[in-house]
Amino acid sequence: MNFQNLNQLKMVMKFKVNKLSHCADLLEMCDKLSEKVIEFGNELVDIEENSNFVLNIIDLDSPRAFRRKSQEEMVVSVTLITEPVLDLKSYCYTGLIKSISNILFCIYFVEGMTQPKGYSITPEVGFTEFDYTPESMYHYMFPVISSHFVLQNHLIVDQLLTGLWVPEVDDILVFGKELKALGVLPAPFPLTKFLDQDRIDQLFRLYQVRGLSYGNLSIRNVNYPMDGTSFWMSARGVDKSNLTGIGKDVLLVSGFDQINGAMIVSVPPEYERRVRVSVDAIEHYWIYREFPGVGAIVHVHAWIDQVICTTQSYPCGTSELAENVVKLLKTCKNPEQAEVGLKNHGLTITGPDIGEIFGRIKGRLQTKVPMFN
Ligand SMILES: [Zn+2]
Repeated sequence: MNFQNLNQLKMVMKFKVNKLSHCADLLEMCDKLSEKVIEFGNELVDIEENSNFVLNIIDLDSPRAFRRKSQEEMVVSVTLITEPVLDLKSYCYTGLIKSISNILFCIYFVEGMTQPKGYSITPEVGFTEFDYTPESMYHYMFPVISSHFVLQNHLIVDQLLTGLWVPEVDDILVFGKELKALGVLPAPFPLTKFLDQDRIDQLFRLYQVRGLSYGNLSIRNVNYPMDGTSFWMSARGVDKSNLTGIGKDVLLVSGFDQINGAMIVSVPPEYERRVRVSVDAIEHYWIYREFPGVGAIVHVHAWIDQVICTTQSYPCGTSELAENVVKLLKTCKNPEQAEVGLKNHGLTITGPDIGEIFGRIKGRLQTKVPMFN
């Protein structure tokens, strides 16, 4: 790992420690980690105060969720495993979901090992292994704790959208099915299998989701009278292979309210009350603004050989992810027709139109996303 840029990791953020585990070894490691976090300029505050992030110290056998004060509070769960585990990735992912964390770190230190290993897992299923030290762990959590979500939607009712037929929306319905045909649409995550009702309610409140489902697609709006940077996009947590229409699971993103950090979404009066646009709307918004030649964008949890890739794994739905993708697109010879890798996560693909994108990626997508340190 490259520690040359350690100074760039210095930032004053408030954090707190939520000790839910009674494991003495883990608590000792947690104290060392807290010291390191403070060394990097952060301030430890009382559990009742508002903070930027929380170190949630848990046992994976009974992972518990930390009740955030706000959506902005990032939860970093930390756990220790001292007995060999066969499928560590699934075990960690279940812990991540049950503790409703933004990232989960597992310190793996079983008999016969001289040095502990560290593993991190994110909701985008980025799973990485590293040599554990408090410093390396801070390095891996930094992109998460320092980034900012844009998950809020400001819904505006537009009477004219009622019963409207829009060719872009038709294309989204058709190519949503195509994603399934390409085999890159994992089944929506069975939340009820892993979470009790209380935790599902917490999760829904926090991310305004109806389920966990990966991938999304959008098409620039050209037919409906509105600003040229507006676009049609699939909704959050819905099955992309079975989209039905405007205000239900396809939405018109008409702008971004920078002051309140919310996407502005136009809906017909009879819209589905819990509908929210995909968390990646902020990324798509900036791409359409920066590159007028982009007519469509597809995001999948899949990979393409030799693709250029972000250097950090920022969470979905953050300004930082959007910013980094735009930066990378600017380095492409043709940003209007490009594929960008999101580290340990998937691809964002731009094209002049949606048909062109699918024609280009067909046969090239690999369903397994490689993991980088
Ligand atoms: Zn994604």
